[in-house]
Amino acid sequence: MYVDGTVRESQRRLTIRNPYTGSVVGSAASDSPEDVATAIASVSSYDHTLTAERRSRILRSAADELARRREEFARRIAEEAGTCVKEAGLEVDRACGNLVVASEEAMRIHGEALRITARGKDKVAMTIYEPVGVVCAITPFNRPLNQVVVKVGPAIAANNGVVVKPSEKTPLTAIAFAELLVACGLPRNMMAVVTGDPREIGDPLVTSPAIDMVTFTGSVETGERIMAKVGLKKVTMELGGNDPLIVLADANLAQAAALAAAGAFATAGQSCRGVKRILVAAEVADRFVALLTDEAQKLKLGDIFDPATDIGTLIDEEAARRVERRCAAAVRDGAILVFGGQRAGAAMAPAVLDHVSPESEIVVRETFGPVAPVLRVRDVESAIAVSNSTAYGLQAGVVTRNFEDFVRIAKGLRVGAVNLMEGPQFDSPHIPFGGVKKSGIGREGIRYAVREMSVVKTVVVPW
Ligand code: NAD
Repeated sequence: MYVDGTVRESQRRLTIRNPYTGSVVGSAASDSPEDVATAIASVSSYDHTLTAERRSRILRSAADELARRREEFARRIAEEAGTCVKEAGLEVDRACGNLVVASEEAMRIHGEALRITARGKDKVAMTIYEPVGVVCAITPFNRPLNQVVVKVGPAIAANNGVVVKPSEKTPLTAIAFAELLVACGLPRNMMAVVTGDPREIGDPLVTSPAIDMVTFTGSVETGERIMAKVGLKKVTMELGGNDPLIVLADANLAQAAALAAAGAFATAGQSCRGVKRILVAAEVADRFVALLTDEAQKLKLGDIFDPATDIGTLIDEEAARRVERRCAAAVRDGAILVFGGQRAGAAMAPAVLDHVSPESEIVVRETFGPVAPVLRVRDVESAIAVSNSTAYGLQAGVVTRNFEDFVRIAKGLRVGAVNLMEGPQFDSPHIPFGGVKKSGIGREGIRYAVREMSVVKTVVVPW
């Protein structure tokens, strides 16, 4: 683990292998519940006295330092997650952007002043945002840097201590990032990273009375398990998604196909807000599928360390086999595999599936792989009904030139965000991000996460 500004070694190790080469790229401590208690005690000793200006400067220097070390971090992400270096570089850029905005938000955590009259006297009630205390941030394997940054950035901006538990599959980037923050001036006891088997350290972490808030990103199953354990604490849950891209008959189909490919195949399809279902008006579906296939064909697979490669591997072979099985089941349900889908180890060629049934497992459950399932829909109403037919509700994208149709869809969808002329994957540090239904509770997006990681104190004064 990383605690008090140093890496503490342990005899028990998590061995990390590159999913593309299979070779060992490093190891991290497999912490015990006692180690977790040590990390929490260290972070609990942070006294919340860092000024907003200082926190802002640390976050800004971290952004600059990360940008300077872009290639090194990109390589580290590629090594442990199997992301190709081209995409891993973009992840570092996103992380820098999030840190810049966190640095700015640290300077503008404002409440409001409410003029009131009580018992015949004028008064002002001020709302003051104070740190929640110690935040426990649990992050998934996909995007092992940025998933940590979107939690740690706002936690520091809001003046909290933070204990991070990265995925046991990708702990190395998180530790490197914690070292970078401390090198940029973060107090050593403001952040710790614990690594290990979640079955051993998960419960001690989330149930600790010294943890004031749990912010979790990961699967619905794990999120539900944590919710059942956590007790009376603040919680945000960023869970899975099954996001639709809706393509109406009047759409610019080339634009729609480019958005669909970008959303379905980025990070080898391992993105919570990726395009997981493409709902296309039946009358234009043949032309759309041809254009989407052209987009899929353009993508270069192969050596993930070659900057020309567009698609990396999945996190491991088991994950790729699961996606392969779901593609085969979709075909048994009546779908046509138009392109791709071949698997080699943890790597999988981008797949285009047409005529997918809304009841197929590949679209009913969240499928974390490079698959573009096309579902043909009759009209706007059936697009809305099919979109809403799953347990998830994260984001959605719509391609149409008809604003009235867009508004009907935006009103009808039960999701956290609807993007016109963009895929569900649209992302910016300034806007709220999060889901409804089983996709989660609460909002990230730096500004919104700062609020979630704060508590309001009301101070009433005579006026
Ligand atoms: P996961 O649920 O298996 O693991 C997520 C994290 O939870 C890991 O750090 C893991 O070690 C930890 N964990 C597992 N069991 C735990 C326990 N009992 N107590 C405490 N922590 C425990 O998810 P994953 O496979 O790493 O990531 C993929 C999932 O994450 C997908 O479902 C994806 O949609 C979701 N995701 C969501 C978002 C979002 O913002 N909505 C973003 C990225 C990924």
